[in-house]
Amino acid sequence: MRACKLVPILASISLALLATAAPARGEAPASQPAPADAPRAPGFVGDPAPTDGVPRGSYVVVDDPALPPPAWPDTVVHHAPIIFYLNKSGGTYVPGNNDARTNRSTIVSQTRTIPPWNVSASGWSQVMSCMTTMFQRWNVTITDVDPGNVPHYEIVVAGRPQDLGMQAGVGGVSPFSCGVINNSIVFTFAEVYGTNYRSVCETNAQEIAHSFGLDHERLCQDPMTYLTGCGAKSFQNVAAPCGEYSNRQCQCGGSTQNSVALLDQRLGLRETTSPDAGPTPMVDAGPSPMTDAGLPPPPDAGPVAPDAGDPAGADAGDNPADPDAGADAGEITAGCGCASGGSGATPRALLLAMVVLAVLGRRRRRPLAQPRLRT
Ligand SMILES: [Zn+2]
Repeated sequence: MRACKLVPILASISLALLATAAPARGEAPASQPAPADAPRAPGFVGDPAPTDGVPRGSYVVVDDPALPPPAWPDTVVHHAPIIFYLNKSGGTYVPGNNDARTNRSTIVSQTRTIPPWNVSASGWSQVMSCMTTMFQRWNVTITDVDPGNVPHYEIVVAGRPQDLGMQAGVGGVSPFSCGVINNSIVFTFAEVYGTNYRSVCETNAQEIAHSFGLDHERLCQDPMTYLTGCGAKSFQNVAAPCGEYSNRQCQCGGSTQNSVALLDQRLGLRETTSPDAGPTPMVDAGPSPMTDAGLPPPPDAGPVAPDAGDPAGADAGDNPADPDAGADAGEITAGCGCASGGSGATPRALLLAMVVLAVLGRRRRRPLAQPRLRT
């Protein structure tokens, strides 16, 4: 099932690589032109002082050639969900290679502390719910419990831009490369949004997506945008021009970006059902009872039946297929067990005949009726 989905996904990835990203990844021969997808504007990308007073998300291009390439296509196949940890408690962040497990960030050039966001339980619930919906398409777990020392991405949802030494109009910030920044820490300066929890959520979405190589785009309905006034935003499966207030080339090449397609590649789709869950129980559950109940008795059915007493009774009692077997005799119960377990359609007359034969054989060999007392 997944394989069918993988083919077009991998195909689209290949096309995307050919179209926009192939020269990058450090694989291009030296004779080729400069990579089109290399970040061309190291440093801050965004608007630290929007004239409309609405804070905007931003990103800082990291100048780190050692960053790992995008994790595709591995992210498309089965793996544990990517963890997005929403941290409203703030914390202290120190300079270093981005790592949510050790609070190191390329965003800060000195140790910086962000105070907790004193958000109401209701407000926080709205943010969590919005984020869960925003990323429901992808293989992501949204949590507000610190995962600790396991790989995860952290969205700090607290504080003000000034806490990181940034200007007042910055609503959020993320490190950015054209690939995936593993274990990245991004910041949404929640205090600047007040009780506009939807904007907090949309900024969260934009900032964490920056860490997966998504640029700003000129599509108002998408959280990667600087445009406003079109209602709630969610990721759009549309090739939209890159840019903030005007169209520009995308940081990683080309002139358009499809946020859904990129996230499909880099987060992987959520696995709604396990492809192995169906077949496995059927294969295991079916044959096992049949094998246990059916195989041993048939060869022994005649001679052993008289002595089978307890074991046969015990097995039959565990077999849910025997509700109508009755309690006439241990032998009868066992016999019904194998028949119903095997096909479930053996005529009662045939069963009865087998039982009669068994009883007759037993009487022939054991004239004394004493064993029968057990029944
Ligand atoms: Zn941004």
